[in-house]
Amino acid sequence: IERSLVLVKPDGFQRGLSGEVLRRIEAKGYTLVALAILTPTVEQLAAHYAEHEGKPFYEPLVEFMSSGPVTAAVIEGQDCVRGFRSLAGATNPTEAAPGTIRGDLGRDWGLKVQQNIVHGSDSPESAAREIGIWFPGL
Ligand code: ATP
Repeated sequence: IERSLVLVKPDGFQRGLSGEVLRRIEAKGYTLVALAILTPTVEQLAAHYAEHEGKPFYEPLVEFMSSGPVTAAVIEGQDCVRGFRSLAGATNPTEAAPGTIRGDLGRDWGLKVQQNIVHGSDSPESAAREIGIWFPGL
């Protein structure tokens, strides 16, 4: 059965949206397998966002993501990687459809990085890699 790695990013955590995100995950029918609150280290973020290194938003992204606590979760369910991305909505919260986490709860703040409340793995392979970063030993 498929697993995905979800992060409630510092903007979502600070706004008290962790429970709302977890509620939507559970209401969809996915299972919580692991849950943690932690402040990401630069090392964890460099591994997590390796594919974005060198892009203009990379430095602001790492700075933002290390700025405070996040809620990290491993979720489980049939096709949950694609399913959670569908729940999350488009990367840009202005464009994200109503009904999605980013569409209902997010907006563009005019910053160098999209503060879009959540991260979700983009493939089962990414999920396995990311779960190893945030929950080593799981
Ligand atoms: P995530 O991986 O966080 O679920 P995503 O897959 O929709 O989001 P990615 O392309 O993997 O987006 O980018 C990772 C993160 O980098 C985004 O969630 C966003 O915070 C930021 N980001 C991506 N593209 C841009 C951009 N063009 N401008 C500013 N920030 C961006």
